[in-house]
Order: sequence, then C-alpha cells, then structure tokens
Amino acid sequence: MSGSLIVAGLGPGAEAMITPEVAQTLAEATDVLGYIPYVARVAPRPGLRLHPSDNREELDRAAQALELAAAGGRVVVVSSGDPGVFAMASALFEALEARPELIGLDIRILPGITAMLAAAAAAGAPLGHDFCCLNLSDNLKPWAVIERRLRLAAEADLAMAFYNPRSAARPEGFARALAVLRETCAPGRLITFARAVSTPDQRLRTVTLAEATPEMADMRTVVIVGNSQTRRLGDWVYTPRFYPAGTL
Ligand code: SAH
Repeated sequence: MSGSLIVAGLGPGAEAMITPEVAQTLAEATDVLGYIPYVARVAPRPGLRLHPSDNREELDRAAQALELAAAGGRVVVVSSGDPGVFAMASALFEALEARPELIGLDIRILPGITAMLAAAAAAGAPLGHDFCCLNLSDNLKPWAVIERRLRLAAEADLAMAFYNPRSAARPEGFARALAVLRETCAPGRLITFARAVSTPDQRLRTVTLAEATPEMADMRTVVIVGNSQTRRLGDWVYTPRFYPAGTL
C-alpha cells in the first residue's frame, strides 16, 4: 500500500483562491476524481488520468479512489470550496468504513476556501459574530430536520449561511425556509444572495427579509442571513463583534 489518497478543496472558483498546498498536490497526482465541473478545473497533462463523474455518485467515486490508491496511485479527489463542507471528505470516510483493511493508507484532507467565507469577504463581514451553516438540500436528511435547525438558529439569533439553497428538483424548500425566518426575524433582517463568488459570473445582492423571494437563490448561490445586529455601511454588510447586553 504505497499510494496516497488526498481529498482537496479547490476553493470557490478563482485560481488565486486555490491554496499552494492543493496546487502542489495536483501537480504530483496520477489520478484526479470528482464531480464533472470540478475535474474540469484541473489542467490535463501527460501522466495524469482524469476521472470525472456525476454528482450522484459520491460513494462509488470514493470507493474507486480508495482502490486506485491501494494499487499505488497518487490519487486526488477534488471538491469545490472546502472538502469537509458538504463534500467529498465525509464520503471518503464512509467508503473507508466499508473497507477497514485500507485504514492504513496514506490519507490526507487538504482544506480550501469554502463558499460562505469567500461570499462573506466579498460582502463585507456578515459572519463577524456567531454564526451557523446549514445545507438546505433534503437529499440526505428529512426536511423536518432542516426546518427545526433553521427555527432554532433563528431563535438563537445566529447569523446563517445556507448551502444548496434551491434546485430545480427542490423548488419549494427555499420558499419554506424564508417562511420559517419570517416567523422569528424582523422584516428588516438583511439577507445576502452571493452567486458564483470569485468567478466571472459573480453577483452579490443584499435585500431585507421582507424583499427576499425564492427566485433570488439557485444552486450556484450561497445565502447569508445576518443576525439582528447586522447592518449596511455604504455597499458593505457587516455584523458587529459586540452583542448588546440584555438582547437574547
Ligand atoms: N464544498 C463546497 C460546498 C459544496 S455544496 C464549499 O465548501 O464551498 C454546493 C453549494 O455550495 C452550492 O449550492 C452553493 O450554495 C455553494 N457554493 C459553492 N461554490 C460557490 C460559489 N462560488 N459561490 C456561491 N456559492 C457557492
């Protein structure tokens, strides 16, 4: 078992946001696996085999990566953003649990800049106080769990980042999420829709909860909901680090 298996985050899109560590790893790889658009971000070169696959095939992909590494390859599985945030790192460990004899493999997880951090930086500092991060897709968990977490986070006055807010397959979910926020938060609560951050298609738009509509989000959008203290300053949106005494 002389191969290695690295799960690497490619960041949100811009070449400059790929860490030097990840760039170096890609330069030394024999095999790169991942969802089709992510593998497309890796430049082909002699000696490198690219294995793009569909996004519904994460466990199969992880299992294949384990086999290639066990056979001696320098294997890199790529994710967008950070591989530990709703991405391939967990899928790899799930596959490894099914192949415990491979636990001795040289496995490393290389972090990347996750979408919410790139989006927050582009908007200002909306995540400058306590926040949480929710995946609004109900592919892997029941909708009731999403709704409960959303409600509790809103009650705790946490800022929030939503990944996978809305897709063609689940057009209703984000409308329901907005309805849950409207039960707890004031209509002036600021929401930033950050689309395709750090790519040529980047678009940032901040509206109030009263103005927000489900169509403002799609699968290339990360949605940032401020806390009760989040404010605008010119074109910026920021959340102060202090939190007023007596506010719960
Ligand atoms: N591992 C990734 C997240 C994968 S889930 C990460 O750490 O960023 C896919 C979701 O991430 C998308 O639906 C969207 O909500 C968000 N996302 C990924 N890249 C983005 C970008 N460049 N701009 C805005 N949102 C992005």
